[in-house]
Amino acid sequence: MSDIPSAISLREVGPRDGLQNEDPVPIEAKVALIDALPQTGIGRIEAVSFVHPKAIPQMADADEVWKRVRKSHTVRYSALVPNLRGAHRALDAGFVELEAVVSASDTHNRRNVNRSTAESLDEIAQVIDLAHERGGTCQVIVSTAWGCPYEGDVPVERVVAVAGRAIADGADCASFGDTTGMATPRRVCDLVGAFRSKHPETPLNLHFHNTRGTGLANVLAALELGVDDFDASVGGLGGCPYAPGASGNIATEELVYMVADMGVATGVDLERLIEVAAQAERIVGHQLPSQVLRAGPRTRTAPR
Ligand code: ZN
Repeated sequence: MSDIPSAISLREVGPRDGLQNEDPVPIEAKVALIDALPQTGIGRIEAVSFVHPKAIPQMADADEVWKRVRKSHTVRYSALVPNLRGAHRALDAGFVELEAVVSASDTHNRRNVNRSTAESLDEIAQVIDLAHERGGTCQVIVSTAWGCPYEGDVPVERVVAVAGRAIADGADCASFGDTTGMATPRRVCDLVGAFRSKHPETPLNLHFHNTRGTGLANVLAALELGVDDFDASVGGLGGCPYAPGASGNIATEELVYMVADMGVATGVDLERLIEVAAQAERIVGHQLPSQVLRAGPRTRTAPR
C-alpha cells in the first residue's frame, strides 16, 4: 500500500448529483443540506447544476438555492454546467469553479443534450475560455467513462481522447464519472493507467456510483494508484437514472470511514457527517443506502 496518498480531497456531490436523482425536494431542505455540510469539515461541495429546467426539474431553482446558501469560507463550492449558457449562469451567480460535463458515449450524450460528444467538446472549449476570462477554473467531467447504458463498454482510448481534447483546450483538471456503476477495480486500473500515461500532470478526480456494489472497491484500487481526489454523496444520496431503485453515488461517510482506518486524512469528522446523512435521509423521506449511516463506525460500541 506504499503509493496510497496520506491525504485525499473529497467533493461532496449529494446536493447536486444526489438530489438530482431523487424526487424533487423543497428549496429550504436543499439549502439546509448544503449549509449543514461545512461543519463536517468537508472542503468542497458541488452545490447545484445550471441545466435547462425542463431537462432536470430538480435543479430548476439553482439560482435561488445558491442565493440562499450561507457561504462558508472553509469550502470551495462548484457548479456543474452542460453548455455555454449554463456557464454564463454559473459565473453570473458568483461561482468560480465550473464543471463542464460531456459523455464519452455519443448515444448517451445525444440523449442528454441532443448533440454528439464532439459537438459538446467544441462548446466546452468555449466554456473553458469563458471561465478563464472571468477568473475561474473549469474541470472537464467525462461521464459514462466505464460504460454506457445504451452502448455498453466504452473503449478506454475513447475516454482518454475525450478528456484529452478538453485538456488540450485548457481544462484545469479532469474527472471520470461512472454514471451507471459499471466500473470494477480492474477497469479503474486500466483507465487511470491509460490516462496518467498521456496526461501525467493533469489533476484527476474520480466519481463512482455503487450501482453494482463495487464503489468502495473501485476507490481502493484508485488509491493504490495514487489517486487522491474523489466525489461522494452524503448518505449515498441519489440513484441511477437507468436502473430504478439502484444505489447512487458512493456514500461519503462510507468512504471516510474506510480510508480513515488506513491512515488517509480527509479532514472530515465522521460522526458529524453521519448526522448530516441522517438529515439527508429525512429530507428525501426514505432510507438511504449508506451502511455506515445504519451501523455507525466500528468504534461505536453498544452499552453492556
Ligand atoms: Zn454521479
